[in-house]
Amino acid sequence: AEMRHARVKRTKTVCTYCGVGCSFDVWTRDRHILKIEPMHGPANGISTCVKGKFAWDFINSPKRLTSPLLRQGDTFVEVTWEKALDVIAEKFTKIKEEHGPDALAFIASSKCTNEESYLMQKLARAVIGTNNIDNCSRYCQTPATMGLSRTVKYGGDSGSISDIEIAGLVIVVGSNTAESHPVLATRVKRSHKHRGQRLIVADIRKHEMAERADIFFRPTPSTDAVWISAVARYLIDNDLHKPDFIEKWVNKFDQFKRSLEPFTMEYAEKVTGVPVETLVAVAREIAKADGVCVLWAMGVTQHCGGSDTSTAISNLLLTTGNYMRPGAGAYPLRGHNNVQGASDFGSMPNLFPGYQLVDDATVRGKFEADWEVTLPVVKGLDNRGMIEGIHAGKVRALYIKGEDTITSDANSTDVGEALRKLDFFIVQDIMFSETAQYADLVLPASPSLEKDGTFTNTERRIQRLYRALEPLGYSKPDWEILQLIANKLGAKWDYKHPSEIMDEVARLTPMFAGVSYERLEGYKSLQWPVAKDGTDTPLLFKDGFPFPDGKAMFHPIEYIPPSEETNTTYDLHLNNGRLLEHFEQGAMTYQSEGIKEITPITFLEVSPELAKERGIETGRYVQIKSPYGQVKVQVLVTNRVEGKQLYMPMNSILEPVNKMTGNHMDRATHTPAYKEISVHMTVLEER
Ligand code: SF4
Repeated sequence: AEMRHARVKRTKTVCTYCGVGCSFDVWTRDRHILKIEPMHGPANGISTCVKGKFAWDFINSPKRLTSPLLRQGDTFVEVTWEKALDVIAEKFTKIKEEHGPDALAFIASSKCTNEESYLMQKLARAVIGTNNIDNCSRYCQTPATMGLSRTVKYGGDSGSISDIEIAGLVIVVGSNTAESHPVLATRVKRSHKHRGQRLIVADIRKHEMAERADIFFRPTPSTDAVWISAVARYLIDNDLHKPDFIEKWVNKFDQFKRSLEPFTMEYAEKVTGVPVETLVAVAREIAKADGVCVLWAMGVTQHCGGSDTSTAISNLLLTTGNYMRPGAGAYPLRGHNNVQGASDFGSMPNLFPGYQLVDDATVRGKFEADWEVTLPVVKGLDNRGMIEGIHAGKVRALYIKGEDTITSDANSTDVGEALRKLDFFIVQDIMFSETAQYADLVLPASPSLEKDGTFTNTERRIQRLYRALEPLGYSKPDWEILQLIANKLGAKWDYKHPSEIMDEVARLTPMFAGVSYERLEGYKSLQWPVAKDGTDTPLLFKDGFPFPDGKAMFHPIEYIPPSEETNTTYDLHLNNGRLLEHFEQGAMTYQSEGIKEITPITFLEVSPELAKERGIETGRYVQIKSPYGQVKVQVLVTNRVEGKQLYMPMNSILEPVNKMTGNHMDRATHTPAYKEISVHMTVLEER
């Protein structure tokens, strides 16, 4: 028994499945995961959800990549790392020589660590010489970051999850929190039930949080900016705003007030379909609440007006003095485990780590001196720009790390056509993804349990993960692969451990000045910005806003109607989102038998009234078609959706909802308008 015990290892890690950032101990024996034990993590206490607890079987899945794979005709052959690196060096060098550094482009992963995000942008900028580097927050949360940077500068949650817990009122807009951020939602549910916290939910779908809300309403899709602005106007008109706070802390109030003129309650009712009385009740709840937190997610951001709606939310919080205090503020809920960190650590076409601008000569000079290179000046392409660049023949090589672009980007047919045109395409992942089928070279990476590093959760909290298992086969942690490639291309990187990468980041990035692995030991964590002496910031803006005069800024917006409205051909609106049990398209979660059993397939939610009109019942197959593509899927009749609204979870690689999404995007950030799809439904004979 002692021998057996000796082989049991206990390692602290951070969940890889969502931005809540639950941390826990994982008990292993050899490659077997014995149990997951939460140990009072700073974000989750002793809770986890079903994914954090059970969805780890993918670690030993036969589908894991264990060697580099090189394309030969229509198949792939296993090759050594040496060979793989030779091929990369030859192709990258040739393409750079013939077409210049901007013919290469890089997509980092929000599933990888902060240190890996930092190294990928360093590879792109310092070794190749291009700013063509982006990450998948472009697909989800960049509009929220934009809305916040316009108004309060920092694109992160204003406070901590504990602030959401103590707020007098929580408003949830376009977020299926109970399924997408389960442990965070549990804390809101608890406060609502036991502390008398008020809860308002605005969503086109009646999900679990909506069922519990004190006020729930369903605005017409893509109209949230209108009701939010109307509520702001009503509060100002009725002297329910906070003039003293505005006077002291916010610029451009008069301009903002003028911009609200069109947003009367009557106009809002006309556009959103929400009765004036409901919106007045919402305004009154805000006025009397002791602290308001607004939570929002993809239901807001993945629209053509995603940035503007996020801005409207921040304007509303400024109007009512709901910044700078505990239990208040803006909470854009980050989806992936490290979507916050991927941007924070510089995998952005216009930003170095810590949101330092690439076109600021002083900043660039600092990085040039440290890295001993000359850096590109012009900002690079974002994910969408890369796809367009490939179509235009300007981008010839693409290196994607930990992202299944073909299923996660909008309009997968168009993306697939682009990927086929590349001269050289590297996909680096833990399993052979759909996107890997288009690759010339596939590199085997290690998942979170097989590496050291840090993740940053939705509340800007940096936490360490420790290696619990050795990398499987010849797979390697992403940071090691990036270092091998950089050195093959002539760099002289010598990082022996991710802690040394973090030390470099801290040296170059004021926001992370005091971050070190020592200060993050075990269950310790730091919320950025972190001063040199190690003081972190659980609550932002306590002493003012990070603009030169210390004041925030109102940013007037205009309402942008949706890009696609239903018409006679495409007469239904299709919405999409997450399921509790699955992560993205399910490549990892479907490897766990228990989870697979709960939700084996994807489905289409249809309202009882539409089901009746079309004569269909649960289990019936239908084909749904948009101007961009089509899928065949089984129906689930439910009153979670209403009228002509359809909802399809994204848990399917075979029938990904992105076959039907188009090229419309948020104007300010190029985030695809995934939530604006009009479709046609055909009932199939098959049952
Ligand atoms: Fe926590 Fe999110 Fe992981 Fe669930 S998926 S355990 S809520 S981090």
